[in-house]
Amino acid sequence: GQTNSQDQMLRARAQSVIPGGLWGHLNAANLPPGYPQYFARAEGCRLWDVDGREVIDFMCSWGPVILGHHHPAVEDAARAQSALGDCMNGPAPVLVELAEKLVETIPHAAWCLFSKNGTDATTACATIARAATGRRKLLVARGSYHGAVPWCSPSLAGVTAEDRAHILHYDYNDPASVKAAVAEAGDDLAGILVTAFRHDMARDLELPNPAFAQTLRSLCDSHDAALILDDVRAGFRLHLGGSWETLGIRPDLAAYSKAIANGHPLAAITGSEHLRTAATKIFTTGSFWCGAAPMAAALATITTLHALEAPTHLKTMGERLRTGLAASAKRHALPIRQSGPPQMPLMLFDNDPDFRLGNTFCAAALDAGAYFHPKHNMFLSCAHTAADIDRALEAADAGFSAVARVG
Ligand code: PMP
Repeated sequence: GQTNSQDQMLRARAQSVIPGGLWGHLNAANLPPGYPQYFARAEGCRLWDVDGREVIDFMCSWGPVILGHHHPAVEDAARAQSALGDCMNGPAPVLVELAEKLVETIPHAAWCLFSKNGTDATTACATIARAATGRRKLLVARGSYHGAVPWCSPSLAGVTAEDRAHILHYDYNDPASVKAAVAEAGDDLAGILVTAFRHDMARDLELPNPAFAQTLRSLCDSHDAALILDDVRAGFRLHLGGSWETLGIRPDLAAYSKAIANGHPLAAITGSEHLRTAATKIFTTGSFWCGAAPMAAALATITTLHALEAPTHLKTMGERLRTGLAASAKRHALPIRQSGPPQMPLMLFDNDPDFRLGNTFCAAALDAGAYFHPKHNMFLSCAHTAADIDRALEAADAGFSAVARVG
């Protein structure tokens, strides 16, 4: 961007009042050159940045927007609930309706709890597993992201060894490493956390292989430990009943957030019957956790996801994108790799260790009207139509042309 752009001016002002300009992974300093930090408006699958550029979006707010921005059924439900009351001395009736809807939608679930962020949900799952078993050790896949608090944050700044004392690691999709970590936990194993698929940043995505998923399930069964599915990122995009329904493996606890309310702030834990007592014993709460408008938004979101058969639509659109990207890359004789479920795709260039090619591709595609990500899995939404995908593929073709030029 130009130095006199609105985006650059906002970034310069933020630099003095927000440490680093912006916290966490949404800091556009980590994105290819020209990527905006600030957005003015969003509608359906389109975003407008503060300098008025319009793009077709493939990040969907990094997951939350699954139906498209301003889905009328969701916004009407949230507005109607807001008009009645949102932050009250206790919940509105929609709490019970939403809990019933989740228990009906998610086969392993006998009950649920609500909070705000994915981190709240994964952390409470860990606490419930420990409360239920009276044991301490939690197994986590090396490199998997579960949130932004000391037990799981990717940064060690401000984290003590004691915060991580009972976290043991295994390798995703490697049953032998899981068995070794279970052996290391001995008689102190509380639970095993696992993401829906391997979606670590900056490497090819990996679907869980069935033998790996089955190993986690049987080890948790034989050790009376909790299998905790972190479905915060993938939840509702792969299967409405939980992402591992596609494998026929049911967790004991699952964490949801992101897409649950189409962008309204909400997280949920679902639990199996045998963990109900433990969930009753832990103390978990937050000032905004009973907010009624996001719950109304979630109820409308889940109802609409069922009506649209969302995972199927997202898959169809994702496959259209994948096929188009492969054809376009081939026309330009550029070797690429595409990985992950079509609903949450990633495209990487071969021989691109520093992401120079990926960044060049993304910067040029952005200029041509599509917002892709060079190293994080992307997200499809129900607002993406075949015409939007085809339009984005034209922008991608401009991206491949730019890569072919730099060689
Ligand atoms: N688990 C996974 C798999 C995630 O992708 C994320 C967020 N990217 C979280 C947990 C944490 O969610 P939140 O940022 O809402 O706290």
